[in-house]
Amino acid sequence: MPSSVQIVLIGAPGSGKGTQARLLSQHYGIPQISTGELLRQAVQNRLPLGLEAQAAMDQGLLVSDTIVMGIIRDRLAQPDTRSGFLLDGFPRNLEQAQALAKLLETLDRPLTVTILFRVDSEYLIQRLSGRLTCPQCGAVYNRYTSPPRFDDQCDNCGTLLRHRSDDNEETIINRLRVYEAQTEPLISFYQSLGLLAEINADGAIPAIFRQIRRAINEHRHRTARPQKGGAPGRRAKAPPVARSGRRTPTAGKSSPRNSPASKKTSRKSKKTRPR
Ligand SMILES: [Zn+2]
Repeated sequence: MPSSVQIVLIGAPGSGKGTQARLLSQHYGIPQISTGELLRQAVQNRLPLGLEAQAAMDQGLLVSDTIVMGIIRDRLAQPDTRSGFLLDGFPRNLEQAQALAKLLETLDRPLTVTILFRVDSEYLIQRLSGRLTCPQCGAVYNRYTSPPRFDDQCDNCGTLLRHRSDDNEETIINRLRVYEAQTEPLISFYQSLGLLAEINADGAIPAIFRQIRRAINEHRHRTARPQKGGAPGRRAKAPPVARSGRRTPTAGKSSPRNSPASKKTSRKSKKTRPR
């Protein structure tokens, strides 16, 4: 477990975060966890938390953090997260970051590092406002960074490309403002924990990837060290793994076989409280 990597990625839309997430996931052999995707699956498979989420959405409410955290907790109990995981697009605000920190502490799987993608906003606006998509095959182009071979025509199928109405400069600037307002507190939170690594994400994809790996390595050494010596409180709490020696796929969920008496309903003790 000491070599596992637990990463959070923070970056504005258009910052190239998605591309790096895919590369990191391959390089470290860790799953890329997107809460949006998890929610969709939970709803589709009619899992208990998925049904709760569905009920909230049917009422036009946001899915509560309690539900989202439950879904993440279940996902982290899967065996493919043993060597780590990468959270993409979560947490989005300070409350979620605090809830995540609490969850990871109870699982004894602290974050290795939070990667912040710094991009010049002029460049972001250009990148986002130049986006062209093919209504026929879904191919994506960019007028400035990856234009189609022929003006406004899809390379694959020749269809006339479309420029989305919400890709105009004004809406993009607004989206970036919202993003900044939400993430600033998040950034200071991770900074105060010594977990933040800022990456200059203006460059070429391989160069950015190298920066990120270097940051991960530096932070890995930092988090690995306290295990040898007297670790602070966390260790004393006896992680669930140590008890049985082996980890079952459902290890994260309250093992009722061992302790029928302590059938806690901790996760859903409170129903979606209005926020
Ligand atoms: Zn096409």
